[in-house]
Amino acid sequence: MKVTVFGCGYVGLVTGVCLASLGHEVACVDVDASRVDLINAGQTPIYEPGLEALLRENLAQGRFRATLDARAALRGSRISMIAVGTPDRDGRIDLSFVETVARTIGAHLKGDPAYHTIVVKSTVVPGTTLGLVRATLESASGRVAGEGFGVAMNPEFLREGFAVQDFMEPDRVVLGHLGAQAGEDLEALYAAFHCPRIHVTPTEAEFVKYASNALLATCISFANEIYTLCEGTPGVDGRQVLEILHMDRRLTPQHGGESVRPGILSYLFGGVGYGGSCLPKDLNAITAMARERGLPAPLLEQVVRVNRDRPAAIVQRLATELGGLQGRLVTVLGLAFKPGTDDWRNSPSQPLVEALLAGGARVRAWDPLAEAAAVAAWGGRVALHRDPRSALEGAHAAVLATAWPEIQEWPWEELAAAMASPVILDGRNALKDRGWPSPVRYVPVGRGPALP
Ligand code: NAD
Repeated sequence: MKVTVFGCGYVGLVTGVCLASLGHEVACVDVDASRVDLINAGQTPIYEPGLEALLRENLAQGRFRATLDARAALRGSRISMIAVGTPDRDGRIDLSFVETVARTIGAHLKGDPAYHTIVVKSTVVPGTTLGLVRATLESASGRVAGEGFGVAMNPEFLREGFAVQDFMEPDRVVLGHLGAQAGEDLEALYAAFHCPRIHVTPTEAEFVKYASNALLATCISFANEIYTLCEGTPGVDGRQVLEILHMDRRLTPQHGGESVRPGILSYLFGGVGYGGSCLPKDLNAITAMARERGLPAPLLEQVVRVNRDRPAAIVQRLATELGGLQGRLVTVLGLAFKPGTDDWRNSPSQPLVEALLAGGARVRAWDPLAEAAAVAAWGGRVALHRDPRSALEGAHAAVLATAWPEIQEWPWEELAAAMASPVILDGRNALKDRGWPSPVRYVPVGRGPALP
């Protein structure tokens, strides 16, 4: 099938390259010329394991290209996928990029009588596909949805850092569509996948994505609240409490004597809070939608609040350990919202750094992938280091914000000796299982004070 994908970001580029490797002929459209040039030269503008090799293979086979020219890309194309950003604007979803693309596709439909299916892949609040997208397509094309073109919503569940694998081996594909033809086109698009393909309405498809992210965020905020309670209780280790909770057979079923640990449990641990380009904005969007529609969502409102308060609580804990932050040099280990990605958008490390600066600390950051832009917002006040020794030398404390696996391998005895005072606040409990010789003061999250 000939497919046009709008957006060459995490979702658009991965979708485009993976669909090409399934045998489709794909053009990925973007408005960013440097991004398009880079991609056509065989380089990916985002870090995603396996993506660059797959891109080069499909460029060489002539099945994939990136372009700025939407009109040329749409010519002869059977399916368009909208995979542009839907960012947070003051706590609400910004649908302007989606609307712009819908207008572009609508203008194409006006001059081309061939049947076309338009698929929304971006995360959009329930009702957007049948509302804004459909209305924009109809007004720009002068045609009616269902007659000459189909409208669909196909949410994406890929995780950054595992994007290619998640796209190519999905657990299920959710196909929300209006009319049978759009459903058949989506079936043909994903014919190579053996997982269940579930046909629903576009609005149900939109809801599945929000319900999914709301559940993950709720697990994280629940675990953080348990940690906060444990941190204030002598003789309690919150991680131990949650690990034992996980062993309940309703959470970890037993099959043939073997425990089958569901992936959701990795979200049922406390830390510095959730972040990234999806959970914070999606939780804001769904709660804003509830408020606007007069629908009660008190649980999700509190999930957001617990998460917002968590980094400041971690910094408060550090201030107590250090007897104040004023003038102290603190190294934040990890800027990315999780290991394996260069994505620091909405990472909890940002409010963490801000709270440290507000408390009067001097701040250094270490991250293996983050670009200089990640610390640009703080002017010259935060220096970015790639080398752990230079990051930690002379520091009064380190706060581990991202569980990069290499941190486990560092020569910690040597590094701690180079610190001005070896206080390590482990915001992810990633270093909990190693022995810490005195005088290192190792502080995991979730643990209360020692019993008197
Ligand atoms: P992104 O910011 O990485 O990429 C968006 C791309 O769209 C950019 O390259 C931008 O230049 C381009 N763009 C903007 N306007 C355009 C236009 N008019 N025409 C063509 N291209 C245009 O965004 P992303 O992370 O890929 O997210 C895209 C959508 O998918 C969002 O709704 C997001 O919530 C959702 N999503 C993201 C993830 C994820 O892990 N990143 C996972 C699932 C769903």
